Amino acid sequence: MLYSVAPLVEGDGHLLAHRTRSRERKEKRMRVIQHWIDGKPHQRASERHGDVYNPATGSCTARVPLASPSEVDLAVAAAAKALPAWRASSLARRTRILFAFRELMERNKKELATILTEEHGKVISDAMGEVNRGLEVIEFACGIPHLLKGEFSENVSTEVDSYSIRQPLGVVAGITPFNFPAMVPMWMYPIAIACGNTFVLKPSERDPSAAMFCARLLAEAELPDGVFNVVHGDKVAVDRLLAHPDVQAVSFVGSTPIARYIYETGTRNGKRVQALGGAKNHMLVLPDCDMELAADAAVSAAYGSAGERCMAISVLLTVGNAADKLIPMIEERIARLKVGPGLDPQSEMGPLVTRAHLERVASLVEKGVNEGARLLVDGRNLDVARGPGFFLGPCLFDQVTPEMTIYREEIFGPVLCVVRVPTYDEAISLIHANPFANGVAVFTNDGGAARKFQNEVQVGMVGINVPIPVPMAYYSFGGWKQSLFGDSHVHGREGVHFYTRGKVITSRWPDPRHRGVNLGFPQNR
Ligand code: NAD
Repeated sequence: MLYSVAPLVEGDGHLLAHRTRSRERKEKRMRVIQHWIDGKPHQRASERHGDVYNPATGSCTARVPLASPSEVDLAVAAAAKALPAWRASSLARRTRILFAFRELMERNKKELATILTEEHGKVISDAMGEVNRGLEVIEFACGIPHLLKGEFSENVSTEVDSYSIRQPLGVVAGITPFNFPAMVPMWMYPIAIACGNTFVLKPSERDPSAAMFCARLLAEAELPDGVFNVVHGDKVAVDRLLAHPDVQAVSFVGSTPIARYIYETGTRNGKRVQALGGAKNHMLVLPDCDMELAADAAVSAAYGSAGERCMAISVLLTVGNAADKLIPMIEERIARLKVGPGLDPQSEMGPLVTRAHLERVASLVEKGVNEGARLLVDGRNLDVARGPGFFLGPCLFDQVTPEMTIYREEIFGPVLCVVRVPTYDEAISLIHANPFANGVAVFTNDGGAARKFQNEVQVGMVGINVPIPVPMAYYSFGGWKQSLFGDSHVHGREGVHFYTRGKVITSRWPDPRHRGVNLGFPQNR
């Protein structure tokens, strides 16, 4: 066990005075998560805390500190202190540490996956998939010596050479969402660190333990203290990171309103920002496609991870009579899905992350019914949905129209909306009218139609007969329009670019022939 049940540390004790004795007893038994600052858990207790739940049982399992601005300052100070030595460390040393981290992650991935399931709720096989996709980014970052190579031109002018280098930015921060507590931070810090930056991570306060697990593995891999830090928290911590003068860049992944806020505030404060936002991903089904394949894909992509994926399919856009064939196949597959606790190897779909999120998704389902969509499968009726866990079964709506709330809003739950359109052109217009543009997929056997779609669709990540087209680590991940604020996508070459600044050097070594004043603009000779 790499993370342990820590004793409750309450600093001055003035908070305890306000609590009842029974709450005190309960808290003493409960795991208390800590910040990770300067290579170790931060021992002083924060003044504010949040509750962390096991979504499968509905019980509170841990308390997470919500950092004050001064605690954020401690983490940034540790990162700033570690920066000069880390920035100066050789590429070989950085790479060796990343290789060691990769090996530790590989060896401990079952334990990390279990932590993900316990706090997020996703089924264990899905949690393993998340860790494996994160591992790919670490592997990509292990190739940093190649990725940081600059260019060199000899004799740009007579006996003058020019070359380019990319240098780290300094202290950089990552602010991440609840739905991929291990993978999304791994989109960021392996590359940022490999480039010579130091990092402060503010993970989701809803499932914070994965970040601590990774921090311990990084320490075990002999990453120097202060290069990677974790502060838990909410808006207070985020606002301090956005304002801190020593933070040079912020990577954010989360919902669109917060992404816009992060981008506007961070850039106003002079920081480089990439802010990935929400999604409403359409799967376009043309009548000529392999319907069995499309039905499998729709069910997998809509209900995997209970729909809590930014690349989940939430709209099935059917052209012509495709829906008439497809819907019975989807219903049949939904009827066979096993919904249950994520740690049960039989379960294919787990609960939602919190009761508040469950209630929001259920209220959107109710709204869909009230606004006239046909609810063909109602996940609220499932037995497990009546227990203490945060379960909602798969929901399937037909006859959804673009004016309905369930079409316009990101639901982020196991709800699939079928929208029927008569032609391909109307389908494309609908996709383009949507403010989100994260992922999209087309299902067809017509190569010409697929190529036309890939060429004209205005969305960042496109699948052709692939429902969840998440790019590999050596490509970059990101949407368009309100699914991304900023110019850079994450990981791949754009990730390396985001975490570095370019410099071009023009050099001439002393030669007496070059002496002499010349006020003209430098030109090649
Ligand atoms: P969220 O926006 O609520 O939270 C994301 C982060 O922002 C968390 O660390 C949270 O503590 C912080 N935060 C929350 N409220 C804040 C505020 N008022 N001010 C400052 N910071 C605040 O998102 P979530 O619910 O954790 O995650 C789900 C969302 O993330 C969905 O919208 C999903 O589409 C999106 N997402 C997008 C991608 C992508 O690549 N585009 C990937 C994963 C998730």
